[in-house]
Amino acid sequence: MSDPLFAELAAEFEARHGRPPLGFWSAPGRVNLIGEHTDYNRGFVLPFAIDRRAVVALGPAAPDAQGVARVSSTFSDEIVEIALADLAPAALDGWSAYPLGVAWALAERAAAASETEVPAATSTLPGFALHIHSAVPIGAGLSSSAAIECATAVALNEFWQLGLTPTELARIGQIAENQAVGAPTGIMDQSASMLGRTDAAVFLDCRSMSTESVPLGLAAEDLEILVIDTRVSHDHATGGYAARRASCEFAAATMGVGSLRDLTPADLPRMQERLDDETFRRARHVITENDRVEETVRRLESDGPRSIGDLLDASHVSMRDDFEISVPELDLAVATAQANGAIGARMTGGGFGGSALALVPRAQRPALEARILERFRELSFRQPDLFVVHPSAGATMKGHVDD
Ligand code: ADP
Ligand code: MG
Repeated sequence: MSDPLFAELAAEFEARHGRPPLGFWSAPGRVNLIGEHTDYNRGFVLPFAIDRRAVVALGPAAPDAQGVARVSSTFSDEIVEIALADLAPAALDGWSAYPLGVAWALAERAAAASETEVPAATSTLPGFALHIHSAVPIGAGLSSSAAIECATAVALNEFWQLGLTPTELARIGQIAENQAVGAPTGIMDQSASMLGRTDAAVFLDCRSMSTESVPLGLAAEDLEILVIDTRVSHDHATGGYAARRASCEFAAATMGVGSLRDLTPADLPRMQERLDDETFRRARHVITENDRVEETVRRLESDGPRSIGDLLDASHVSMRDDFEISVPELDLAVATAQANGAIGARMTGGGFGGSALALVPRAQRPALEARILERFRELSFRQPDLFVVHPSAGATMKGHVDD
């Protein structure tokens, strides 16, 4: 690995941990192309991994610190140390709960496997030192958290010789985030980060947990995906998310099904009779969104990426009017993109702020960017951050210094 980043990273690791690392592993952030608030309704999502990655350098613990995990990051001056034997969700907090939560979840998994499959093989996992260097911006809706979890998971999977598959490692990342960090998130982010491929999206069925790589074909069509980060974040985002989840659960229970995934657009008329208007609209978003994700996959396969614009647009309208999770800044970004050459546009992520995405011909992108900045200025909105993301490969499974 001759990349200057790796030389820099090796130096950073050595400065913090006193010796060179064994190797480097990396995993990307993600953007969700379509399928919003469908994951916890056991529905469909279609995210892709992006060309911004978290890289971790990892090496064995120092000779005088056997059995100790020691983690550092360019993001913080703090170095966090803990004995592997003491790893537990309650012992972890702050940024280090992400990498150490993954270490905990993997150690638990190894312990469970050693009881059933390979007795004594994993009773003493070796300690390690790990340094994180991430190019995934925090809180921009690109899942910097999954990038760190997945990069740590692939590194430790190899260092501890656990042999887990990418899908199993995605689940480890989710367990770390749910239990060690305490964020009740689905498995979408980690699946995209682990399973992404160049110029492809990851079609994930959150009921069966099956995944499929779906080629996007953006490069051949000279298309790009522009992310417009509004830098708006609302205080009620957490409460709003919980309220939407509760509405979905209530709608499913009223209709006598386990989750909204068990209903289709054909059920909508009888749902409208039985649910109050707001609950009905919440459920309609989820049910039509599942339909749009499946249709997006079909159209990508048969007609290519230029054919999905109206589905992206319809997804935004559904989130704005039925699910009511958009904000004026997101609506402005989407409308401006649609009026200035985008094939389709929608807000992406949990809502109440965050980012929108626009599928746009490469030649039109600079003019669109200028127009978005201009419109945000005209309405006295905070200037958004604009960046292009390229659907990219997921986590690297191997990364020795001498590769
Ligand atoms: P996002 O939408 O970016 O995933 P989250 O709140 O889920 O936002 O995760 C962000 C958190 O992940 C940060 O507050 C920090 O604790 C952790 N994190 C992200 N990037 C880094 C990094 N480079 N080093 C250490 N921790 C990081
Ligand atoms: Mg996150």
